[in-house]
Amino acid sequence: MIEISNLNKKFDETTVLESIDFSVKKGEVVALIGASGSGKTTLLRCLNLLETPNSGTITIGDTTQVFSERPLKKTEKLKLRQYSGMVFQGFHLFPHKTVIENIIEAPLIVKKESKETLIKKGEALLDKVGMIDHLDKFPDALSGGQQQRVAIARALMMEPDVMLFDEPTSALDPQLVREVLKVIEELANEGQTMIIVTHEMNFAKRVADKVLFMDDGYIIEEGSPEKVLVHPEKQQTKSFLQLLD
Ligand code: ATP
Repeated sequence: MIEISNLNKKFDETTVLESIDFSVKKGEVVALIGASGSGKTTLLRCLNLLETPNSGTITIGDTTQVFSERPLKKTEKLKLRQYSGMVFQGFHLFPHKTVIENIIEAPLIVKKESKETLIKKGEALLDKVGMIDHLDKFPDALSGGQQQRVAIARALMMEPDVMLFDEPTSALDPQLVREVLKVIEELANEGQTMIIVTHEMNFAKRVADKVLFMDDGYIIEEGSPEKVLVHPEKQQTKSFLQLLD
């Protein structure tokens, strides 16, 4: 369903992603792990075209985009972007809109459904993430965990083929982490395809089908959680995991 081939990304002259190859099957949960600065966020942002790779190929669903130094056309960006929904570390809700307004904002512009239909759909998703009682509140009246659950519902509104989570719990107080991970785990159990950048190794062990370990712009180890997190082969992976202990 997703195929990434020989993807490279530079910022000015600094190479941040090098020869990235991996694939994700429909329904698979992929955990992306690695030290700070190894390129995890950049890789996720490339998949959603918040950053444009310098070379390589991304296929998602029926769309294949080959990258070169040529800037992408807006239509090319939108075409690939429609397949994914992104959840950021810092929630990124619109502060001046209520929860339900946040939820329906993008589909109201992009989809052809009526406002009433979108509100119904939004309510169902807010119910699913345990936020139905808060739909008329503004983001600053919510805890970080609640805001993140709204952000997840907002991304789901676009019915993405793949959900991209960039350290979704790292800005949260420890007691709020669990409620967000629970929502993500439920989505995984329902068969939602997802790629998640996380430092929550127990979560990755439990939920991921595949773990990718990044080091200095490369994926240097890849496999089941058992293989990568319990019996890593590479020294860098071993050192990284030891630091987390
Ligand atoms: P963290 O776990 O700290 O979020 P990461 O593994 O997600 O780290 P990235 O944020 O992808 O790493 O950063 C990879 C490298 O790219 C870093 O050296 C970073 O400084 C650099 N980088 C990221 N974004 C930019 C940018 N917009 N311009 C220049 N350099 C950047």
